[in-house]
Amino acid sequence: MTHIEAFVHQLTEALKGRNADYIEARLEESQSSHITYRGRELESIGRTTAIGGNVRALVKGGWGFVSFNNLGELAGSVELAVKQAQLVGNQESQLAQVEPAVDVVSAEKDKNPVAIPLAEKKQLLDEYNDIIWRTPRLQTSIIGYSDGYKKVIFLNSLGSYIEQERADIALRLAAVATEGSEVQQAGLSLGSRGDFSLIKGRQREVELMAQHAVELLSAPQVKGGEYTVVLDPVLAGVFVHEAFGHLSEADFVYENDHLRQIMVLGRSFGNAELNIVDSAAVPGLRGSYKYDDEGVPATKTYLIREGKLVGRLHSRETAAKMKEKPTGNARAVNYRYPPIVRMSNTYIEPRVTPFEDIISDIKEGVYAKNWYGGTTSMEMFTFSAGEAYMIRQGKLAEPLRPVVLTGNVFTTLMNIDAIGNDLEMNQGGGCGKGEQMPLPVSNGSPHIRIRKCLVGGR
Ligand SMILES: [Zn+2]
Repeated sequence: MTHIEAFVHQLTEALKGRNADYIEARLEESQSSHITYRGRELESIGRTTAIGGNVRALVKGGWGFVSFNNLGELAGSVELAVKQAQLVGNQESQLAQVEPAVDVVSAEKDKNPVAIPLAEKKQLLDEYNDIIWRTPRLQTSIIGYSDGYKKVIFLNSLGSYIEQERADIALRLAAVATEGSEVQQAGLSLGSRGDFSLIKGRQREVELMAQHAVELLSAPQVKGGEYTVVLDPVLAGVFVHEAFGHLSEADFVYENDHLRQIMVLGRSFGNAELNIVDSAAVPGLRGSYKYDDEGVPATKTYLIREGKLVGRLHSRETAAKMKEKPTGNARAVNYRYPPIVRMSNTYIEPRVTPFEDIISDIKEGVYAKNWYGGTTSMEMFTFSAGEAYMIRQGKLAEPLRPVVLTGNVFTTLMNIDAIGNDLEMNQGGGCGKGEQMPLPVSNGSPHIRIRKCLVGGR
């Protein structure tokens, strides 16, 4: 009997006759590799494998959670999780009804990137780093590559048994240029569902990124003020994830009175063209899966449909507490953590307007591209674009130093008055919530136009 069969057998035995309203367990086997550079120096390179699992128990509304690295600890972990839950539980357990599932989801389309020799990955990154360093006035480069392949087995006391495999690749490159006291940076984030060939052949993009960092040194600063701003799919996608998506996470809404008064289903948040979706059911993206980490099937959830708030993201518990349908959005970054409400693939649906028409009637505006960084605090956001251009008389004009966009997410959504036909999904980057990061997600949008957006330099 393999250790997995032994685990399943032990667990099935352990789940019997426990004094809990609900128990679930997961076992995770993972392989990963990483390569990082600082400047020309290879900073670290390596491969790791890990095995571990956890047990989560619910008693009278209280949760117990125990993770372990040794399968021998399983029986003890079940007992401990139930005991912990009994200590904190003091009300009625609430979990939305979900049919038990028995399923094996193999990673048929996901290749295992960890199996590719490290030397082959390093060769590609060396080539990218050489391209960056060929650019004059470059001060330094930063490269971080990581990949992983994991198999997760999930069981619960309802009778679910789900095996899922998945692969993931993320690559971030950045180039820093300096002149005197002036420092400018440009970056590129790439990722895929395990397909290494998708991060190959990016030589031209890497070259343009490095050149862009240098060009920024001599670009003018934008004159601060309110502009009509056009966001590219990358920046609009990140805006939707960071500024709006996190506010749609039901645990956050449930616990926050202020937000609960704002995020009222049926309320108008934008014009009738605006549709915002979160869907793990779209295949092949970094945030895609068939079942979440509570064994709930993935769904396509409209958050905003025709301008109105129509949904939010749920775990089984938040769905029950808010009397809404579960959406399959409970996810854990790995076995050391319990699942919490998370996004998957979040995007603005495309409409019909081509990019040329979006900018054609703008006399003086700003075209902001690429994500550089930013912060959100409830409904307020401050985002830096990695790249920006003036729009003059309906045409793209001179490049600008990176711009900072500031505003209230709800006002900004209301001010979106054109949505493009060119949806693109960002597969780079990862999401952080609490201690759990980076979680593979994707986000996307077509080009969008925002009226009266506050723009500053940084
Ligand atoms: Zn996030």
